[in-house]
Amino acid sequence: MSFRDTINPTGMFILANMVFSFLFNSAFGYGLATVYSLFTFVLLLTLRGRGVYSVACISGAIIAFLYCPIGLTFGPPDLNAMTSMTYTDKAETLEFFLSISIWKWLISVSILLSAVSCCLLKPKTSFVLPRILSLVSVMTFFSTPIKAAYQDNIFSPLDSHYPPIRFVNDAYSAYKQVNSDKSFYEKNVKKTDSWNADIKNDNYDTVVIIIGESVRRDFMSAYGFPVNNTPFMQSTPGITFTDYISSGPATVLSLTHSLYRFKDGRVEYNNSIVRLLGKSGYHTNWISNQGVFGGADSPVSLAGKQAEDYHFVKNGSSNKFLYSPDEKMLPLISDALNRKGKKAVFIHLMGSHPVACVRTNGHYDNFFRSREESCYIQSIKNTDALLDSVHGMLGKTSGSWAMMYFADHGLQIVDKGTSEERLQHSDKYQNNYDVPLFVTTSDMAERKVITAPRSGFDLIPLITQLLGISEPSTDLQCNLFSDEICNEERVVLKKDGSLIPYNTLPREEALQ
Ligand SMILES: [Zn+2]
Repeated sequence: MSFRDTINPTGMFILANMVFSFLFNSAFGYGLATVYSLFTFVLLLTLRGRGVYSVACISGAIIAFLYCPIGLTFGPPDLNAMTSMTYTDKAETLEFFLSISIWKWLISVSILLSAVSCCLLKPKTSFVLPRILSLVSVMTFFSTPIKAAYQDNIFSPLDSHYPPIRFVNDAYSAYKQVNSDKSFYEKNVKKTDSWNADIKNDNYDTVVIIIGESVRRDFMSAYGFPVNNTPFMQSTPGITFTDYISSGPATVLSLTHSLYRFKDGRVEYNNSIVRLLGKSGYHTNWISNQGVFGGADSPVSLAGKQAEDYHFVKNGSSNKFLYSPDEKMLPLISDALNRKGKKAVFIHLMGSHPVACVRTNGHYDNFFRSREESCYIQSIKNTDALLDSVHGMLGKTSGSWAMMYFADHGLQIVDKGTSEERLQHSDKYQNNYDVPLFVTTSDMAERKVITAPRSGFDLIPLITQLLGISEPSTDLQCNLFSDEICNEERVVLKKDGSLIPYNTLPREEALQ
């Protein structure tokens, strides 16, 4: 008896269908869809032998195969995922796929394999399941719209919670939202600003604002992390804010709500901090290592383009897949600082953006838990060294200056305790918003700590207070550079754009 004869084709066929139904329904990021899997299985058995069977299996499998690694990592397609996809260039997309762990790719491949098996295996019995059962399946898939039709007399099949239908619906509505947002801010960024600026005290001739990327402050020795990776921040006279949180959990969401005025629940794309400083008599310069994001301008790069001079270092580089260290910006920063007269220089770092080992070219001085986490700690160290270099340049310039450094958002630790432990974007924990804020100026001689809660929604007032610019709409009537409590309850943006109180989020301890 050969091995072939020992396999029961009917049993194998049933098994392949069960596996496929389960994996297919779970691939879209809505969790383990057990009930839907069961009904998919029943429907597939009923359809066996008809032409539609193979078409349904293979086309469903291809979509699930393509989305599965993303779905299992980040969940269903939402506004944030779609925003990131719209403003991400090829190199970042590649990094994104590289950051997904192997076993998710294996699950993805299993979907294809199980679908192919379903089509190739020839069961000896035909499944004449009562039609009523497949009718129940279809009714289950559309139970939500049927319920809605019963209650409100409106039947919309797209409201189904059946994972593949829900997936198409969610992806489409997020896509529509991103496009309408895009045309909204592109139109609004062109409008003239309505800043009413007036220099109260002419505090500093030069201001440098360094926007860090993906830095979670409990991974910095300046905030107690055991690996010494922020020697500059820890030894330089200045102010360390110990409770500053970002407004959002990802670059675009966070920076649009920090660099532009956010008033009455709306981002005013014509009123950016760049224009405000321009209007206050500073020559503005934007230097970015983040690229203009493959063709589409994000609201962040549009803020940069409002500067009188702007440079996007990554854009136009011939090989985007190579690592692009932030130090590449130093000559441009030096040129900007050597300019005569009052000037504001914005520096947008690539910093610690996942994949961290791409940031550091695989290098790290200290091993900590995993290769990727070691690179992450190193990337923070590299940023600290860059701050040191910029600080050194400022020291050589004549005149007074101020330098501010903050990060756009934190990250979450995933696959904890494994060799794949790493950090990725998330909005689940307070730590996803806990970022550094450090300010140093030419007239500070001591190190100071501000423990009062501060928020990325108040970034513009933080800058105007530092520089002594009076602008009525940004006047908080509260000294942000003291330990005065300026707002009792801080809110943060979830990745879908909704606002929640920061205090309702749990904490994730890095060192446990
Ligand atoms: Zn970011």
